[in-house]
Amino acid sequence: MAHPYDLVIENGTIHTPTSTYKANIAVRDGKIAAIGGAFEDAARRVDAGGLEILPGIWHVHCHFREPGHTYKEDFASGTAAAAVGGVTMCIDMTNNTPLPTTLDMFEEKKALVAPKAHIDYALYGGGLYPRTVEALAKAGAVGIKIFNTRHIKEVYPYISELGVLDHGILYELYEATRDVGLVASVHHDDPEWCKRLTFRDYINQGRTDALAYQESFSKGYMYGHGMVAGLAASLYYARIVGVKLHVLHLGVMPEGANEMIRHAKFDLGQDVSSELELGTLFMTREQMEKVGPATYNWGYNPEAGWETIRNGVADFIVLEHAPHTWEEVQPGWQDMFSIPLGMTGAQEFVPSMLNAVNEGRLTLNQIAKLAAEAPARRFGIYPKKGVIEVGADADFTIADMKREAVFTKADMLSKSGHTSWEGMKVKGLAAYTIVRGEVVAQDGKLKGSRGYGKFVTGTATA
Ligand SMILES: [Zn+2]
Repeated sequence: MAHPYDLVIENGTIHTPTSTYKANIAVRDGKIAAIGGAFEDAARRVDAGGLEILPGIWHVHCHFREPGHTYKEDFASGTAAAAVGGVTMCIDMTNNTPLPTTLDMFEEKKALVAPKAHIDYALYGGGLYPRTVEALAKAGAVGIKIFNTRHIKEVYPYISELGVLDHGILYELYEATRDVGLVASVHHDDPEWCKRLTFRDYINQGRTDALAYQESFSKGYMYGHGMVAGLAASLYYARIVGVKLHVLHLGVMPEGANEMIRHAKFDLGQDVSSELELGTLFMTREQMEKVGPATYNWGYNPEAGWETIRNGVADFIVLEHAPHTWEEVQPGWQDMFSIPLGMTGAQEFVPSMLNAVNEGRLTLNQIAKLAAEAPARRFGIYPKKGVIEVGADADFTIADMKREAVFTKADMLSKSGHTSWEGMKVKGLAAYTIVRGEVVAQDGKLKGSRGYGKFVTGTATA
């Protein structure tokens, strides 16, 4: 006899953005079938006694490097790392080779990654040509990612031809993105400012080592005031166009950005959201000095970031996953301005947040909102995902708040071969990662298979 339910999760405590309660959850055909009840007849039972059940966590800032840079990471290794960490749904970025900026290349990327994903995923369309935005939207892009930036020495991961520096083209990309009803997600910058000032005060002075770079970061050179200036122009153009703007790299930008977003959002009523980079809260000076070129950012002003959570300027929280190999980043000890900049965060994201809960800086309810419900809503995937309600996908991140771990490269599934968080102790780990009713990871071990993860199409209106 077939069981009425495929899976029952029992004895756990459920955390939503607004409530905390104990209830069993029954799953059928990959969806939440019922909440509350004994559900005695099920094909499988997961005992979540003593554990905390969150809606499946979204990681919306992943660079899984496929196609073109798969020696750093690929869709299988990246989504495996995310799954083991506790992530059920990810969004992948666009600095690939070839660039997913046209229908052909976007379809090629979809076909390449589909057999490899361990968790569900959506893909950004590459914003470069206003005339291709509609086709990318129809092909299922979740949003349009725009690199309004170029590296000062044109070093990957900033692919120079992907940079949209011309504000006329940026404006037309906003029009095209508005017309299809998607979100434009932008890495803002004023790269000429950044280039001129960083060369003048660091590179031409011979100050290029990792600590000099990190000093430049904290003083607003690399990833600094230029980003805020770029944001100012973008907010204005986005407002007069009426596009849904999503601001990437909150926290990486100096504090002035936070006030600009607050003003646009709450004083002007602009349709703008932002994602806070948790590296800028959790990466201590000590950790940054230890890993050197294995991180491009650090938390020189963490309280400004925490304030964006309190005051609602930050809509999501992320821990950017932008991996490079160990060998590629090591020359950064001497010359950080010439190496590929990035950091790891797919596997470390959920434990880092749970650790912050144990430290009293964050609540599980906030995580349910900032890393599940809010991104699902913003990208139009709510209530299919991002929520624990009957009818939603049965995606859960089940946390054990008492378990401890030390991040170490030996445990990392990322191909990059290292973690920016090497040696960092955390308390709070994912016990189960469940995607559409299947356990894809349990207690730090991968359980699912590649190709199980499904492409989640965006919700373009045209
Ligand atoms: Zn990124």
